[in-house]
Amino acid sequence: MRAAILSIGDELVTAGTIDSNSEWLAGQLASRAATTVQRRVVGDDRASIARAVRELADVCEALLITGGLGPTPDDLTRAALGDVLAPGRPLESDPVALQHLNRWFKNRPGEMPPSNLAQAQRPQGTRSVPNPLGTAMGIAGRLGECMIFAMPGPPHEMQTMFLDQVLPQLPLPDAGQVVLTAGVHAYGLGESMAAERLGPITARDSCPLVGITVSESIVTARIQAKGPLPKAQRELENAASVIMRQWRPYAFGRDDDSLSSAVGSLLRESDRTLATAESCTGGLLGKMLVDIAGSSAYYVGGWVTYTDALKTSCLGVPQQVLQEHGAVSEPAVCVMAEGALARSGADYSLAITGIAGPDGGSTPKPLGTVYVGLGQSRGAHVIVSIRRFEFPGDRSAIRDRAAKTALQMLRFVLLDSPASTALLWEVSASVDC
Ligand code: AMP
Ligand code: MG
Repeated sequence: MRAAILSIGDELVTAGTIDSNSEWLAGQLASRAATTVQRRVVGDDRASIARAVRELADVCEALLITGGLGPTPDDLTRAALGDVLAPGRPLESDPVALQHLNRWFKNRPGEMPPSNLAQAQRPQGTRSVPNPLGTAMGIAGRLGECMIFAMPGPPHEMQTMFLDQVLPQLPLPDAGQVVLTAGVHAYGLGESMAAERLGPITARDSCPLVGITVSESIVTARIQAKGPLPKAQRELENAASVIMRQWRPYAFGRDDDSLSSAVGSLLRESDRTLATAESCTGGLLGKMLVDIAGSSAYYVGGWVTYTDALKTSCLGVPQQVLQEHGAVSEPAVCVMAEGALARSGADYSLAITGIAGPDGGSTPKPLGTVYVGLGQSRGAHVIVSIRRFEFPGDRSAIRDRAAKTALQMLRFVLLDSPASTALLWEVSASVDC
C-alpha cells in the first residue's frame, strides 16, 4: 500500500512544534510493510490544505491527515476536506459526534462552549471516527482510489485513534510481509568515498534498499529489506556484512554500536587497558569511554590538562617543549601520551591537544589543528604514534571529531590495520616519536 501523510498547523510550518506525528505514523506504516510516498506539512490555510489533499490523494491509496480538527477559527481541516470531498455542499452535523460532545461536556464542569459544536461537523459523504480521548472526532472519507483519514493533532489522541480505528481499515500488504531495517556505521572516511566503496548496492532500485547518511561525522548505511520474514532477514544480514567488508577498517559497528563501545569490546577481548590525556577536548574522550557500561574493565582514567602548567605538573611536559613548540604541537602531544602511559600503568594511552577555536588559529596552525598521540607500552619500550589533523567545523564539531578520531586510531591499532590507513582530515602522515 502506498500512503501519504499530511500534517496541518501553523506551529509546524513556522518554528514551535516539531512534526512528530508524521514521524510516528511513517514508522507505523513502515513496520507494516506499507510505503510512505510523501510527507507534507501545511499551515492553517484552507486553500493550501485542500490543494495538498487533492495532490496527495492522487499519488497514494491512503492519506493520513493530522491536526486542524479543534474548535478554533484556525482549525480548518473540516472545511478544507469539504471543499475537496463535497464541493459546493455545506458541512453536515454528525449525530454521533454531537452525542460524543454532549457526553464529554456533561462529565465536566461548565457548559459546552458554542464553538465546540463545529467539531460535530463533517463533509457530506464522510464518516466520523471516534475519539475517546478528546473532543475532536476524526473524519474518514474517500477521494477516487484514496482512503482519507483526518485525525486530531495532539499526539496521544492521534496515536490511539490510528491504532484502534484507522489501522484496521487500511488495505495493508500480507501479514507475512515485514520491513526490517539496520544501520552500519563507519568513521574516518568521507561520504562520497563511502558511497564509491559500496557501488551498485546503493542504487535506488536495488533490493534491499541501501541509503547513506552522515550525522555527527558518523557515516551510516541504512538498509531496508522487505518481504517474508526469513528472506528479508537473510537479505538484511547479507547486505550488512557486505557493507562492513567494503568499509573495512572504518566500519565499527551496527545499530546501537558507537566508536567507544567498539573500542571497549576490543580492549576487553585483548585484556588491555587505556588511559587518556586531554587538552582541547576537555574530558570529552573520557566521557565517550565512560558512556559505555562496564568501561572500568579497560579504561583506567585520565587527565584533563588545559593549561600549560597542568600539562607540566600532571603529565611531565617540559616547559622548554611548551615554549619552543607550543602546547599544540607534536612534541607536546608525544610527552602527554608518554606521561599518561607512565603515570597510569595502562597498556595504551590517547592524548589530544589542539585549537578548537573560535580564536587561537594561525597560519602554521589554523583553527581546527589537532594532534592526536597514541601511546603503546611494549614491555620496557614505549611507542607513541602521532597524527596531525585539521578538523573543519565549529568548536563543538572540532572537539567531537578529535575525540572520535582518537578512538578510531586506537581501534585501527587494536585491529592491526596498517599504520598508513588514511583518516579523514589528516594533514600529515603518522609519525612515531
Ligand atoms: P490541532 O489538532 O491542530 O488543534 O493540534 C493540537 C495540538 O497538537 C497542537 O497545538 C500541537 O501541540 C499538537 N500537534 C498538532 N499536530 C502535530 C504534529 N504533526 N506533531 C506533533 N504535535 C502536533
Ligand atoms: Mg492546529
